[in-house]
Formats: sequence, structure tokens, C-alpha cells
Amino acid sequence: MVKVSITAAHDGGNIEVISSGETVISGRTAKVTVILHIKPGKFRPGGNEEDDWRGGARRRGDVYTEFEKRSHSQYFSFRAFVSGLQTSSIGRVREVGSDGGIKFITVQYVIANAHSVSFPEAWPGSTVCYTSGSLDPCDDDAWRRNPTTSYVDGKLTWSHVHDTNGSTFFCYWPPYTYGRHLRLISDISTQISTRGSHCGRFNPVVESLGLSLEGREIECISIGNGKLIAWIQHRQHPGETMAEFFAEGFLHRLFGVDKDGELDEATEGVLDRYRFYIVPNMCPDGSVRGHLRTNSVGANLNREWATVSGREDYEAPTMRRSPEVYAVLSKMDETGCDFFLDVHGDEDIPYVFFSGAEKTPTWGDRLENLHGYFISCYQRVNSDVQKEIGYPPPDSMDDALKYMNVATNQISTRFNCLGLTLEMPYKDCETNPDPGRGFSIDRTKKLGANLVEALVDVHPYLRAGGEFWNAFSKEDKYVVPTDNYKEQGFVMLKKRFYSDVRPNDA
Ligand SMILES: [Zn+2]
Repeated sequence: MVKVSITAAHDGGNIEVISSGETVISGRTAKVTVILHIKPGKFRPGGNEEDDWRGGARRRGDVYTEFEKRSHSQYFSFRAFVSGLQTSSIGRVREVGSDGGIKFITVQYVIANAHSVSFPEAWPGSTVCYTSGSLDPCDDDAWRRNPTTSYVDGKLTWSHVHDTNGSTFFCYWPPYTYGRHLRLISDISTQISTRGSHCGRFNPVVESLGLSLEGREIECISIGNGKLIAWIQHRQHPGETMAEFFAEGFLHRLFGVDKDGELDEATEGVLDRYRFYIVPNMCPDGSVRGHLRTNSVGANLNREWATVSGREDYEAPTMRRSPEVYAVLSKMDETGCDFFLDVHGDEDIPYVFFSGAEKTPTWGDRLENLHGYFISCYQRVNSDVQKEIGYPPPDSMDDALKYMNVATNQISTRFNCLGLTLEMPYKDCETNPDPGRGFSIDRTKKLGANLVEALVDVHPYLRAGGEFWNAFSKEDKYVVPTDNYKEQGFVMLKKRFYSDVRPNDA
């Protein structure tokens, strides 16, 4: 008897099974349709249970976000376990001619509530990721994309032919589990404690800046002998798992992980010029829970960097609601900051792009030129980077001032420094299309590693005086980005400054 069982109880998992159709058998093949829901964002915690779409702790999704007055959802990750296929001793399907039984089963997966997620407009062009190459998906970087993925009538559907018994994992973007996070921290600690390791002369430190509300460490890794202070933080939005793969690529290079601790010339150069503070996961609780955007009490951390005018009722950051931000901001106030990068993923736009601190009080010729030059430096070493497509900047300082609770705006203004938000695509990346893999883990890690070269190139200017930008070439100039990335068919959103500001909110 062929059976497909779906679970999401693993680290970072998120799905619920609504129903499973009848298995239709035809000859030696079987077909079944499975109806799924992404866990709906929970309404106010402790509120009226009637308000909660599905109630019950087992069905938690993102927690209601008090600041935005809404519940988020979109991330999903689950395991489909197939049993009962007629297979040979090596686990492969037997050739026709051996004894009967079902050889393979085609499963039509349907996420029926895809229309009610945070960014439903982002589904067209998205392809579901899957892997069945490993029993442990967190050790498998060889995820593929399912090309049958489509978004029709508010439902996200794809079909997958299972031809072996065992697990296949499906997700919106590959999980970066807490187990892998701990291994990343441990790999770095091992490099530091290895006698004679190259990183040793750059004063490396692994420390915890504090605890999350569920008691996980907010680890910060610092290294470098330079005068310039660079802060790089990742995964404020826990469902943007690519952000921590980026951190892994960058950290592995800085510490010579997988290279016997050896550091290349550019890496030694960047460590002579900067001291880095790197937070690989800002929201470990939301990560383990399989949330898209919030921590365990519903805080969207990228709205927690200040109390904003007009919303004085909502104090931020606080130890009660956003200790992750509180801890990092306190440390930043101690160290200062000359360069800030906040690493994210964007559901909609199929490009790697940067969003800056445009129109904030300190934005002007200096920051604008630094912004343009930095992206050009990055682009020269990594062809996934481009500057034409991105979020259109705000029209005025008044608009920008409404978003001083966003990390990039707050830090750039607070320290009068170059601050950027990096967004990577969930979809395939149209600068270098690869439909079979999409924007993959490998490319994400490479992008992280290439931050080294971009920072070496921009360093002379970060605190330079005078009109240093007069020496920059035309290609290095700032470009006002547009999100009108399709010549035809793409409807320009009315206004979107950030990925979580939908047209009706702006
Ligand atoms: Zn984000």
C-alpha cells in the first residue's frame, strides 16, 4: 500500500495538511492530490481564541505584529515521506517484469491558502525547492527547483514524481537550521582555538550579546585589526534563510574554514583595514519556529530600531519585545559604526539588489556616492549584483522619517555612515538565470564571500573628507532603482519602500 505522509515538526518547518485525496492507481503508477496550508499568522497572542484562524499551539505561525497590526506568513518547509513503493534492494524501482506493485507515485501538492500570505503578488515566477538526496536536509546544499510550480486561482501548486521510498523535502527556500547555526559558530571557534591559525593575529572573538526571548544566544563574531568598524547582520526576518547562508560564505572566508585556516591576500587585506562585528542570526526563535518575519512575540525586528514619530505608543527596541535588537544596538553604540550591512531576502524581485538610506537626514552627496560606488565595486567581483532594479526610494525626507525604525535608516543616520540593506531573491536570479536551481545556496555563499573584495575597494572613502567622489567614473555613480523589472505584464506597485510595506500600507 503506497502512502505519502507529510510533516513539518522539524527545525524551521511550516505547513499543515488540510486533506489528502484518494490515491488513484493506474497500472503500476499512482496519483494523489494533497491540500496544504502555510500556517496562518496567529492573531494577538493570548487574545480571543475565536480571532485565531485555527487556534492551538501546534498550529502556530508568525505571531501577530502589534506595530504593523497584521499577521505575516509565506515561508513553508516540510517533509513528504513515501512508503510502499515496490523497490529493489538498492532502493531503486525494479524494472518492469519483476513482481507487481506500484513503481512510482505522482503527488500534486496544492497550497490552498497561498493567496492569503504576506506577499501573494510574489508567487508568479516562484519555483518550489526540493531535495531527496540526503536524509538531513540541513547538510544538503544541492536543492533543485520544481519547474511545474504555478500560481493559479490563489493556489500554489506543483507536482512531483516520487520514485523511491523515503523523504523528500520541499520548501520556499532551503532551511538554515539551528543545528547548522550551532555548527557555524563551532567551526569558527575551532579555527580560533587552533594553534597557529591565520585568523589568530586578527583578534577574533565569539561572544553572546544577550539572549532571545526563548533563551537562545545572540552570537556576535568579531575579527580584524583595522580602524574602520563594520557591522554585518543577517536574518532579522527568519524566513529569509538565504541571509544566513550569505553569513556562512562570508565567515568561512574570513576564518579560512575548509582551507585549513589559511587566509587569502584580499581577506588579510580586509582584516587589516576593518574590525568586523557579524551577527549571523538576529532572530533564532523565529527561525526554529518556521516564521517568515517575526520573533516569538510577534516583533518584526526590522521595525524595532527606534520609536518613530506618530507611533509613540510603540516603544522600540525593548527587552520585553525585541531584546535581539536591544542587545545589538547597545553593542553598536559602544563600538561605533563606519559601514553597516543588513542582509535579507525579497519574495518578489528576481534580482540581487541593495536598498539604502535614501532621503534620511544624513543622506546627501557623500552617502549617495558611497552607495553607488560600493555597489559598483561589488558588481565588478560578482555578476549577480546590479543597481538598476530595486525598491524605489522614498520621495521626501518626511516619507523616510516614517521608517527610522528600519535598521539601515537608523544606523546610517545614527553613525553618519554608509548603510545598506542587501536583498537576495527567493526566485531565480535574472542576472544569471538557472531555472533548475534558481538562486542557489552556492551562489548565496559566493556572494557572501565576495563582500571581502567590495569592502577592500570602498575602504579609502568611507570616512574620507572632501569631494572624493569627483574621482569616481560614470559607472560608479548612484542609480535611482526601479522595481519595474518586466517590460510587459509587470504592474508597478503604487509605492514600496521596503519589502514589507505593501501598497495599501504605504
Ligand atoms: Zn527581510
